[in-house]
Amino acid sequence: MLIIDCELCTACGICENSCAFGAITVQDDCAVVNEACTLCGACVENCPVEALRIETAEKRIQADAADYQGVLVFVEFRHSRIAPVSFELLGIGRKLANQRGVQLSAVLLGAAVQRYTADLIAAGADRVLLAEHPELEQFREDMYAAILERVVRQYKPEVVLAGATAIGRSVIPFVATAINAGLTADCTRLEIRPSDGMLLQTRPAFGGNIMATIECPNTRPQMATVRPKVMAPAEPDPSRTGEVVVIDLPADLLQSRLDVIETVANTEDQVNIQEVEALVAGGRGLDSAKGFALLRELADELGGTVAASRAAVDAGWIPYPHQVGQTGKTVSPKLYIACGISGAVQHAVGMQSAEVVVAINRDQTAPIFDIATYGVVGDLYEVVPRLIQRLQEMKK
Ligand code: FAD
Repeated sequence: MLIIDCELCTACGICENSCAFGAITVQDDCAVVNEACTLCGACVENCPVEALRIETAEKRIQADAADYQGVLVFVEFRHSRIAPVSFELLGIGRKLANQRGVQLSAVLLGAAVQRYTADLIAAGADRVLLAEHPELEQFREDMYAAILERVVRQYKPEVVLAGATAIGRSVIPFVATAINAGLTADCTRLEIRPSDGMLLQTRPAFGGNIMATIECPNTRPQMATVRPKVMAPAEPDPSRTGEVVVIDLPADLLQSRLDVIETVANTEDQVNIQEVEALVAGGRGLDSAKGFALLRELADELGGTVAASRAAVDAGWIPYPHQVGQTGKTVSPKLYIACGISGAVQHAVGMQSAEVVVAINRDQTAPIFDIATYGVVGDLYEVVPRLIQRLQEMKK
């Protein structure tokens, strides 16, 4: 926190002028700080009489940090199958565990899910921690979090990974808070620092303008969520062997304050743009919701579906599940056709790992052309119909 010594302060106002956040004002002969303070330190540096200082809480290294070993992946089981992101986590988890020379464990919660343990072992797990009970049929975050907390306390992994999905994002913060561990959300890269085995967790920061690498040196486990489609799953190896450990589930762990009354499938929009190989994406350049009818025609010709920039979603032209980008989904299709999308960094972070990017934009200076494999400078309402026509001719 920022400490102000009013005995030293001369109310000169230099700190007030040097604060970019309007967080410090001079009142009654002394500076006063408000909640906008970011602890950037500019006022401390500029104070001519050293009346300001920043004090940080003492960092305590968790006493038993050295006892934590191994990598643990939280497996998501939903709609009667293991979520693809869990296999991606096992892929990166395997690499991290190999580098550290430790075991990779997968923790699987659900009702009647034992038969899926072999798939997890084939995907890289050395051990599956199985929490199986009819009460776990539906995802209930308080109950799932309590079980995961118990598992972490008992098995003491040094690294815990979960998907940056609706389920992972809701349950893992509960666990991190309960065990007082650091958690880095939405990682796009994970690696081990060879010198000390620290997990380096990289994620976009400041609106995607920089990549920040975060470490948690003082507490264990090091916890991270990883966006779907960012890591590659390992090729399944059915010959791999591993251990299945059934987790004891006493009645106190199966308590929930949540009642799931009904689960309703969203029939309006079932598209999962992360699992489609060809995406035709539209942005503000479409000018209206009608533009998506044209893009759908092109997507149909390619056997794909439509995606969108946030501008198109915010305009109400297409529902949110289609949004690509920092606050939408990360996609890595074989083909991504961006129509009337400028290529803002927040959009680019969600699609730049597509194999082939085709950009159609009437502004030849649009940043999307910097990441495009092929660019077409022109009006999308002229270019897209010609593409559709050409594809139809080729099919004939
Ligand atoms: P614009 O930037 O307005 O671009 C429209 C483009 O269409 C222009 O390049 C124009 O030349 C072209 N055009 C116009 N008419 C035609 C035509 N007839 N034919 C061809 N080209 C034409 N954005 C996302 O997409 N996803 C996110 O997840 C996301 N998250 C964000 C998070 C934060 C915290 C913030 C601050 C922003 C986020 N944004 C996100 C918004 C992002 O910064 C951009 O504002 C947005 O991506 C712009 O969308 P756009 O490219 O469709 O629109």
